[in-house]
Amino acid sequence: MIVVFLGPPGAGKGTQAQRLVEEKGFIHISTGDLLREAVRNQTPLGLKAKEYMDRGELVPDELIIEMIKEKLPEGGNVILDGFPRTIAQAEALDKMLAEMGKKVDAVILFDVPDEVVVERLSGRRIDPKTGKVYHIKYNPPPEGVEVIQRDDDREEVIRKRLEVYRKQTAPLIEYYEKKGNLVRIDATKAPEEVYRDLLNALGIS
Ligand code: ADP
Ligand code: AMP
Repeated sequence: MIVVFLGPPGAGKGTQAQRLVEEKGFIHISTGDLLREAVRNQTPLGLKAKEYMDRGELVPDELIIEMIKEKLPEGGNVILDGFPRTIAQAEALDKMLAEMGKKVDAVILFDVPDEVVVERLSGRRIDPKTGKVYHIKYNPPPEGVEVIQRDDDREEVIRKRLEVYRKQTAPLIEYYEKKGNLVRIDATKAPEEVYRDLLNALGIS
C-alpha cells in the first residue's frame, strides 16, 4: 500500500507516521528527513538544498524527484510524508509508480488551521540521536533527553512555509480529490484520536 500524507507543515504527519512504523510496520519516507540528512552530510544535493530549506522555500522539483526515485522501496506498506508537494512532483510520482505496476492507494489530508500550525511548530523539538519529535507543551521530552529546535521552526520561516504550502502544495488537494482517493482527517484532535481516525481511513485495525 502506498499512502501519501498531505497537509501543512506541523500538522502532525511525522508524529503519526512514526506510530504507523512502530505499530504497523510501515516504511516511512520523509523527503524533509532525507534532505536534512543530505545537508548534514554535505552531499552535492544537501549543499544545493540548504539555501531553499533555510528560507522556507521548496527545493526544486528535479532534485526532489531524482532523490525519491532512489529511495522508493520495491515492496511493503509505504508512507510518503512531505512528498509530493507540487503538481509536477505528483505527476512524476504517478509515472514512477505506474512503471512499478503500482499506484497511490490513499491520500490522507491532515486538516489544521494556521494558528495551530504556528503553535505546534514553534514548540517542536527533536531528539537528534533518535529523530523522535516532541513538543514543549503537548509532548514534552522525557527527562535526560537532549532536544534541539529545527532551524526552519522560527516564526518568520514558519509563516513563509505556510504561504508556500498554500500556493504550491494545496492545489494537490483538488488533484487527488479528482482521483477520488483523498480522505480528510481533523488533525487538531489529540494524537491518539488522530491515530484512530487514521487507522479507520486506511481500513486497518
Ligand atoms: P509534520 O510532520 O506534519 O511537520 P510533526 O509530526 O513534526 O508535524 O508535528 C509538529 C509538532 O506538533 C510536534 O512538536 C509534535 O509533537 C506536535 N504534534 C503532533 N501532533 C499533535 C497533536 N495531535 N496535538 C498536539 N501536538 C501535536
Ligand atoms: P519538512 O520536514 O517536510 O517540513 O520539510 C522541510 C523542508 O524541506 C521544506 O520546507 C522544503 O524546503 C524541503 N522539502 C521537503 N520535502 C520537499 C518536497 N517534496 N519538495 C520540495 N521541497 C521539499
